[in-house]
Formats: sequence, C-alpha cells, structure tokens
Amino acid sequence: MAAGQDNLTAVLYGINDMRLEQRPISEPNDIQVLIQMEVVGICGSDVHYMTHGKIGPFVVEQPMVIGHEAAGTIVKCGKNVKHLQPGDRVAIEPGVPCRLCHLCKSGNYHLCGDLFFCATPPDDGNLSRFYCHDADFCHKLPDNLNLEEGAIMEPLSVGVHACKKAGVKIGDVVLILGAGPIGLVTLLAAKAMGASKICITDILDIKLEMAKKLGADHAIKIEKHLSEDEIVKKVVTLLGEEPNASFDCTGVESCVRIALRSTAKAGKVVLVGLGKFEMNLPLTSALIKEVDIRGVFRYNNDYPTAIEMVRSGRINVKPLITHHYRLEETLQAFETAKTQKGNPVKILIHANPNWRPS
Ligand code: NAD
Ligand code: ZN
Repeated sequence: MAAGQDNLTAVLYGINDMRLEQRPISEPNDIQVLIQMEVVGICGSDVHYMTHGKIGPFVVEQPMVIGHEAAGTIVKCGKNVKHLQPGDRVAIEPGVPCRLCHLCKSGNYHLCGDLFFCATPPDDGNLSRFYCHDADFCHKLPDNLNLEEGAIMEPLSVGVHACKKAGVKIGDVVLILGAGPIGLVTLLAAKAMGASKICITDILDIKLEMAKKLGADHAIKIEKHLSEDEIVKKVVTLLGEEPNASFDCTGVESCVRIALRSTAKAGKVVLVGLGKFEMNLPLTSALIKEVDIRGVFRYNNDYPTAIEMVRSGRINVKPLITHHYRLEETLQAFETAKTQKGNPVKILIHANPNWRPS
C-alpha cells in the first residue's frame, strides 16, 4: 500500500476517550489477508469498554482499536492464502486461536487460552479503513449477502451457538429472557432451527415490539409488581406448556432464576448473558427436573451456519439494522449506543469512504 494512505482508525484511549487517528496500514503475513473494512457494528461490549474501561478481567491499559462485528473486501492476500482473492467480500470472525492446544484440536477453539480477539484488551479491533486478519477466520460471503449482513454474522453466530448448545429442533418450545440484540439473534436462530413456540421477556415495551416483529409468539413485559411465581406461571400459560429450552440473554439473576424454574423436566437452560460472577439460584429444583445448564461463550464453527441460514432465506437479519454512521462519525455512533436515543438495535459504522446511504 502507498505510504501515507488514509487509514483512519477508532482508538479507545480510556474511559470516554475515543479518538480517530491515522495509523499505518499493516502488511499481511503469509497466512493473512489485508481487508478494506466496510461495515463494523457496535456491540454492548464496545460501549462497556468505552464507559467502564474494562469487562471482568479484561482491562483497557493501553490504547486499543475498537470494533469486532465486521465485514470487508479483500485487497491483498498473503502468499499461502488459497481460498480467498482480492475483491472477495468476507465476514471477519474476530477470534483467532493458537490452533495447537488440546482445546483447538478438539474443536473448542473459542476457548483457547491463547486467543486473539478483536477489541478485547490488549488485542486491537478493526474499526479502521484497513485491517489484516488471518485468512482462515475470514468467511467469504455468498453473492446474496451484503456487507451489512456480513457484519451481523458476528452477533448471529452467538445466537446460532446458543441454539446449537440447546439442541433446538423442530417443535421445540422456547423461552428467551431479554430482547436486546443477543436475545433477538437467539430468537431468529431458534425459529430457523424449528422452534414452534417462542416466548420472550423484557422490561421495555419497545424491545418486545421488535421481538414480535421478528417472530416471537408471546411477549411478557417484566414489571416490578410481578412476583417470580407469577412470571413463571405466565410463561407456562402463554406457551401452553413448560419450555424445553430457555435462554438467558440478560445476565440478570432474576432472569436466570425464571429460566431454571420455568424449564420442563429434562430441558435445557442456556446461559448467554454475562452478569454477576455469583448468583443465588434455585439449583436443587433444576436438579430434580434434570434440567441441563449450559454456558455459552461466543461461538465456534458457527459462522458458516449463520451465513448459510441467511443465504438460504431462513433468517432475515435486515430488520435488526437500525442506524448507520460513517467512520468519521464514530463518536456520534457511540453516543447513540450509550444513550439508546432512537431505540437502536444494531448500529453500523461504514468504514469505506465511498459508502453512500441507500
Ligand atoms: P442488551 O443490554 O442490549 O440487552 C439486554 C436486554 O435485557 C435489554 O433489552 C434489557 O431491557 C433486558 N432486560 C434487563 N433486565 C431484564 C429483566 N429483569 N427481565 C427481562 N429483560 C431484561 O445486551 P445484548 O447485547 O443483547 O447482550 C445480552 C447479554 O449477553 C449481555 O449480558 C451480554 O454481555 C451478553 N453477551 C454474551 C455473549 C456470550 O458469548 N456469552 C456474547 C454477547 C453478549
Ligand atoms: Zn489453542
């Protein structure tokens, strides 16, 4: 690349200190590709790093490029890259593992102890004009997926992974706690995998309206005056039976309790929300029902499934996209994400200077 070429990059320096600055464009190594970044979505974790400077043990100690829900166009390939070529449009899977340890070898590469993950400190993300990534973690987009949909493959992969963990299949009855972006992608994945009845909860009407638009059969607004018993009863009454798979997509203790109490015998409770490290939960009642509790941390081998679900028309992610900004407007985009003004679901930032709103 020509020296001095525009590589505007969004860098988080510390709490509420995001700066746009020029950075040199890296050269891809033998197994990497150089990508013209096109679309980068904002995730709750990006906002949390901005407002709190850390998530659990991950602390922003040095300036970090933000962004990990991304898609772009290949401009250059390292010499050992065989499956991609310049011009290919790709969804970028942000976690690159060591590929050598027993977790990687057994297929659980997302749990690798030596994982690089975009915009998880100290690793840089990809909200920039250009970015290099390992080619085997770039997924070529089919012709009928656009780059905006490509960026959504990241959160959708979380929903796909959660539903695979629960083994969702035709006829399943599902409860989802929380109708934020992650609850919604779980809803889309569960429907596509065959769930016949889905009940979703949230504390906000606006979130439930979106969930209904996306196909939730029942919605429960969680209000202060409702007791846990009343909510559990409502779930079962609306669904006509106890759910055989429940997903907590809030990280809130009361939601995990409701999931454990509502779920049918021999059913599954999948924990997706990241909340308090310790919770007070009705575990014995879950044990008596042989409810299987499963954790979800990101995804592994789920990008291809997510892409295929959209390619084949089983999932439409377009309604999730509510806001568009240019890379130059990153601070405004984060302001919208922070304040939730205009009820955003997915806020996309367009990194290609040639992007024009459609
Ligand atoms: P979000 O904050 O946008 O959505 C959470 C939703 O839960 C909101 O709509 C909120 O109104 C609702 N909510 C809050 N309290 C509730 C209650 N008591 N009952 C019902 N609903 C309630 O977050 P998100 O981006 O959708 O992510 C959801 C959770 O998943 C977060 O905890 C996030 O950290 C986690 N997450 C986990 C993974 C993973 O790999 N495990 C990946 C991404 C996100
Ligand atoms: Zn590994």
